[in-house]
Amino acid sequence: MAQIDDLPPLRDVIAAHGLNAKKSLGQNFLLDLNLTSRIARSAGDLTDCTVLEVGPGPGGLTRALLAAGAKKVVAIEKDSRCLPALSEISSHYPGRLDVVEGDALKLDPIALTQGDKVRIAANLPYNVGTQLLLNWITTPDWPPFWSSLTLMFQKEVGERIIAEPGSKAYGRLGVLAGWRCKGGILFDISPKAFTPPPKVTSAVVHLTPNDSPLPCDLKSLEKVTAAAFGQRRKMLRASLKSLSRDAEELIVQAGLKPTARAEEIDIAGFVSLANVISKTENI
Ligand code: SAM
Repeated sequence: MAQIDDLPPLRDVIAAHGLNAKKSLGQNFLLDLNLTSRIARSAGDLTDCTVLEVGPGPGGLTRALLAAGAKKVVAIEKDSRCLPALSEISSHYPGRLDVVEGDALKLDPIALTQGDKVRIAANLPYNVGTQLLLNWITTPDWPPFWSSLTLMFQKEVGERIIAEPGSKAYGRLGVLAGWRCKGGILFDISPKAFTPPPKVTSAVVHLTPNDSPLPCDLKSLEKVTAAAFGQRRKMLRASLKSLSRDAEELIVQAGLKPTARAEEIDIAGFVSLANVISKTENI
């Protein structure tokens, strides 16, 4: 086990603070500091930015981020039981760790990071991970407030984020992420690495903003992909009827086949569909 600081081993921290894992909070802790250090290194140069971490728990990844030289870490944790353990880390790294108690879905990440350059790194709770990612990749302003996302998900979610057209995993998440970001899965993590072990393998995904995504109205793209993949087995002319009575004509105008199914349409195709539909319909 790596020794990355003079703080006690995570197992002792968990025992000392009675942090028995709660399933309702998606608590599967990574206690191997070799692994948390590998995730921290994957996040890039942390010395000149604020790292936003969601769900520090007992602080395994937090410690690795600080040991890797993060100028500052702002960590949002919903479980108040973790705060005393995190406060010990703050004392060890004076002025470099701010812990915010709360729900990351409800807090404003820009206000918390005070306009600094931001990298987001987290072992996300499974129950809110996808929604948090969607929040970060659908910010109205682009480029966004963050310069990279290094996030652990269930592997199946990671595969949906990076999915290509034609694959089973390709869906709304892959279109939105692929439109605005570039990146991929860096490595998998076995269930055995966690306490308690989850049922599935996890994957660390690294994304950076695409500097010039194809011009498209975000809301229209969200609605078109939701309608198309909401009924993914249907042909577009049927699945997009909810958006327009003239769906078939608009699909042709976008240069696509009305008989195609959502999973056959690439990102450029969805962008042109969203642009055509938003011009004609009030969506
Ligand atoms: N970072 C730690 C690690 O790698 O071992 C813990 C990761 S654990 C998968 C997810 C953490 O997110 C837990 O500490 C949990 O309490 C916290 N959490 C769950 N829902 C949250 C939310 N909505 N906002 C902030 N933290 C949340």
